Amino acid sequence: MSIAANQVVSIHYTLKGDDGEVIDSSAAGEPLTYLHGHGNLIPGLERELLGKSSGDKLQVKIAPADGYGEYDPQLVQRVPRRSLKGIANVRVGMRLQAQTAQGSRAVTVTHITGDMVTLDGNHPLAGQHLNFDVEVAAVRPATEDELSHGHVHGPDGHHH
Ligand code: ZN
Repeated sequence: MSIAANQVVSIHYTLKGDDGEVIDSSAAGEPLTYLHGHGNLIPGLERELLGKSSGDKLQVKIAPADGYGEYDPQLVQRVPRRSLKGIANVRVGMRLQAQTAQGSRAVTVTHITGDMVTLDGNHPLAGQHLNFDVEVAAVRPATEDELSHGHVHGPDGHHH
């Protein structure tokens, strides 16, 4: 069976940045299981997996636009530390929810200079090429429940 929309797919993967550093991977020995064609993976990786079968191995390099988006400098803002009410020990690398004109958004503290804190609303992987090593572990048809929910059920997936 090959990968197509509405198939439940299990993959082992390792994600590396352009410097070769491992950013993310499926848990040791445990594949990631997802429902294909429902936006559960980044678009570029879904496209590369289309038509592949159990046992196939692939190496793919995905451009930012097909991954976590281009880096947008407009999503970076500097705010006074006192505006971060109720947050103790603000430090670089901390992830926060910030209120913006576009609503609540996840931001990362990237710099602290004196009383000013720089908040970056880009995804941490925005602007990066994503280098995936993938092995397809299993492919099966989705159940009706899985299709109506848009995600995988069962031991490897979503639990209700
Ligand atoms: Zn469900």
